[in-house]
Amino acid sequence: MKKSGRMLAVLVGCALGWSPLRASAFKVYIFADMEGCTGIDHPSQIREERAAEGVAAMEGDINACVAACVEAGATVVVVRDGHGSGSNVAPERIDRRAELIQGPSGAHRYPRIEGAEAVILLGYHAKSLTPGGVLAHSYSSQSIQRMFLNGREVGEIGVDAVIAGEHGVPVVLVIGDDKTCAEAREWIPGVVTCETKEGTGPQSAKRLPADEARRRIREATLEALRRRRDIPLVRTEYPAAIRWERLPKGSRRTYDPDFVPVADPRIEERTGDRVEALLLGPWR
Ligand SMILES: [Zn+2]
Repeated sequence: MKKSGRMLAVLVGCALGWSPLRASAFKVYIFADMEGCTGIDHPSQIREERAAEGVAAMEGDINACVAACVEAGATVVVVRDGHGSGSNVAPERIDRRAELIQGPSGAHRYPRIEGAEAVILLGYHAKSLTPGGVLAHSYSSQSIQRMFLNGREVGEIGVDAVIAGEHGVPVVLVIGDDKTCAEAREWIPGVVTCETKEGTGPQSAKRLPADEARRRIREATLEALRRRRDIPLVRTEYPAAIRWERLPKGSRRTYDPDFVPVADPRIEERTGDRVEALLLGPWR
């Protein structure tokens, strides 16, 4: 297009309400878990008598992050409710500027990720048996003792970052306790991290006031989205192998203070061309 034509297009665009600034419009994908959310340090807050408290914490953290995504210029913000069954938050309490996805999504870890420029892992937790990691586990606190990806011990951060990489999207921000943030930096060079609490045990934490935690979430989200093009995709070698150490039925949860690691867990290993398919296959 010639210069005069481009100018005319901008003028017509502005007249129609389009701003040249919006040329940088982008989509962000927030995958929200629960254990790492502000103020959560006990199992009763994620599935038992204090579950309403946990849900409110998750909603508050999600809304702080969504607002910051919009402030950073995101025009589409997808929120995946990703804890347990995937139906935790009340849709009417989530910022209406976000597209909320709930319920099971079969073989897809990130439904509707197409076109996203950045993934944010919110409310995350450290891998199973991390010392001082609040509610630390790897996908199932009751049936998985540890997991390995291509021989390297891994938890949800590493696996989910690799799966985001399989979709061509970088994980730019990880939000959770201090152990979660340290694990994120080991797996994702240059990632921005945000601490919502300091882990002092599998079921205890030094908490932050909610308003301070959400101020940090806003700041970290703005920084991560500003740097989103500088944070590399996480890759692994293919064919990839995941190895699971399976716990016997009826085991204590790995974040139970009385949990004792099993010396001879049942080992299961699978190899394939996509980590997403290995994680979400029918054997899970
Ligand atoms: Zn969870």
